[in-house]
Amino acid sequence: MPALTNRKRVLVTGGAGFLGSHLCERLLAAGNDVLCVDNFFTGSRDNVLHLLDNPHFELMRHDVTFPLYVEVDEIYNLACPASPIHYQHDPVQTTKTSVHGAINMLGLAKRVGARIMQASTSEVYGDPAVHPQPEEYWGNVNTIGPRACYDEGKRCAETLFFDYHRQHKLDIKVIRIFNTYGPRMHPNDGRVVSNFIIQALKGEPITIYGNGQQTRSFCYVDDLIEGFLRFMDTPAGVTGPINLGNPGEFTMLELAEKVIRLTRSASTIEHMPLPQDDPKQRRPDIAKARAMMQWEPAVPLDEGLDRTIAYFRGRFFS
Ligand code: NAD
Ligand code: UDP
Ligand code: UDP
Repeated sequence: MPALTNRKRVLVTGGAGFLGSHLCERLLAAGNDVLCVDNFFTGSRDNVLHLLDNPHFELMRHDVTFPLYVEVDEIYNLACPASPIHYQHDPVQTTKTSVHGAINMLGLAKRVGARIMQASTSEVYGDPAVHPQPEEYWGNVNTIGPRACYDEGKRCAETLFFDYHRQHKLDIKVIRIFNTYGPRMHPNDGRVVSNFIIQALKGEPITIYGNGQQTRSFCYVDDLIEGFLRFMDTPAGVTGPINLGNPGEFTMLELAEKVIRLTRSASTIEHMPLPQDDPKQRRPDIAKARAMMQWEPAVPLDEGLDRTIAYFRGRFFS
């Protein structure tokens, strides 16, 4: 059913999570009606508490592995636990969320004629044999390892998006998100930025897995959300997949040293075993995002870490 007002009705699945809550905020600020759908597995009402009084915001508890019948103009499909601890907690449900969730949201998009974006991930590249990773690289994923429920679920979701595009002419957008950090990250989901900040603020040892020479590239959340919005507004037919991330690459040892310095912590460094299938290096090639939508991250790591440290201090240490 077409909307009776000019306001766009935007569905955000996983909207009560870390990235989803920032996206809902930005969409509301831009004058949209936002329907946030979440089963609160890793997200929470707290993340969107400040939006609940906004008459243009609606929060619905729903699991995307079940069908959803609503009338919307645009869909951002973010529902899926994102950190290894969370997605390995119930791996079967993780695959179901990616695959059945994608089918249901694509079915919904097909029925109402909505444009739909999939939050895919750099994990589709697995432990990459090509560095940095361009979108053309097909990846190196262990199909039966402990990370596969997430990686393969996301790969299958991409397949579904492109088949609905080819078969049913759906207007799709697929973004591959690289490690992102910022306020409202889950405090105990085991991800490296939140772990290091909390350990530093508590004065506990910083846990580096392996020798700390593995690399990651960290994007501040505001930069990433700007990329979401710009890509959603590209012309129909521009499908991606497109990498979104910050190409600055750091070893985990460098990250630990930065966090210790920025928090002025007395924490020491402790080495722990490297988890199975842990990628050795990861850095996005963002040439396409730069060329297509003049997008590139603007927040340097030190500044983003400062803002994230301030959030954790205020929320958990005051
Ligand atoms: P998050 O865990 O904070 O958010 C995921 C949200 O999805 C949570 O609110 C959770 O409750 C919800 N959810 C999970 N299963 C659901 C289901 N079956 N039905 C409805 N809701 C469900 O994680 P995030 O970091 O905000 O990630 C958001 C999306 O971005 C995910 O799809 C993730 O795979 C993707 N992504 C994130 C990163 C990152 O660095 N944060 C990197 C790559 C991809
Ligand atoms: N679906 C949904 N909301 C809708 C339309 C469809 O959740 O508004 C779900 C429905 O459960 C269906 C799935 O999306 O199984 C795929 O829909 P599609 O039309 O592609 O396939 P079909 O209905 O033929 O299975
Ligand atoms: N890591 C670490 N200490 C921690 C948590 C993570 O050294 O306390 C490492 C982890 O082994 C990986 C990197 O930091 O090499 C990023 O881990 P994260 O779980 O944040 O993201 P992902 O591996 O999914 O990129």
